[in-house]
Amino acid sequence: MRKQIAAANWKMNLTFTEAKDLLDAVLNNDLELAPHQLAIFAVPFPYLLMAQEVIRGYNNYFIAAQNCYFQKSGAYTGEVSVSMLSSIGTSFVIIGHSERREYFNENHQMLANKINLCFDENLKPIFCCGEPLSVREAGIQNDYVETQLAESLFHLDGSKLQDFVIAYEPIWAIGTGKTASSDQAQEMHKHIRNVMSDKYGDDIAGSISILYGGSVKAANAAEIFGQQDVDGGLVGGASLVAGEFTAIIKSLK
Ligand code: PEP
Repeated sequence: MRKQIAAANWKMNLTFTEAKDLLDAVLNNDLELAPHQLAIFAVPFPYLLMAQEVIRGYNNYFIAAQNCYFQKSGAYTGEVSVSMLSSIGTSFVIIGHSERREYFNENHQMLANKINLCFDENLKPIFCCGEPLSVREAGIQNDYVETQLAESLFHLDGSKLQDFVIAYEPIWAIGTGKTASSDQAQEMHKHIRNVMSDKYGDDIAGSISILYGGSVKAANAAEIFGQQDVDGGLVGGASLVAGEFTAIIKSLK
């Protein structure tokens, strides 16, 4: 079975002490993850080492960065490189979150560069895609998402995409309390899998974990994750509450 993943995206929230308390509170629930289940915490940069230390010894828990820079190294004051993340043992990095695409003008090419750097440094990308409301209302969301995939991933050799992680996050559902219906999620996830299959074949497409993101909470996680092509979730707001995120982890297939 491909990996089923609950990934917390804390964004720019929590002090150091609050962050540690939240990790402890989730881990104190002694959740036994099955071999195919992963829980990931995407924490702010200053908390990466602390978080990695806290999860040490817990099976199938991982820490992610929320971003990285698209250049390898150099005079880019304030940026964090992929090799820096790799050198401190970070496992995953979120690439192309819609907030970065929108507020920091990240384009397809920058994201493709970031993905390449991740592969060079053995860091696993969580590649985000998803359409704004205007695109959904125009009914052209499938083409929009396909372009995002093609422009940032299709230069890659298929071997790189075995067990890859994609997060489908419709922008109109992020932080709005408005969740895509489980049918809408399944429909887009199936489309994403088909797009990857057309390019790379069924085996690789079938190994890719496709997470849903957009107002996932304890109350709706099981229904969304229960869809055939939904392999867990990328969770913002609800991941800041220990009980909510614990219940979301428990909702994984
Ligand atoms: C996100 O930021 O990736 C996200 C899905 O946020 P929320 O769960 O708050 O909608």
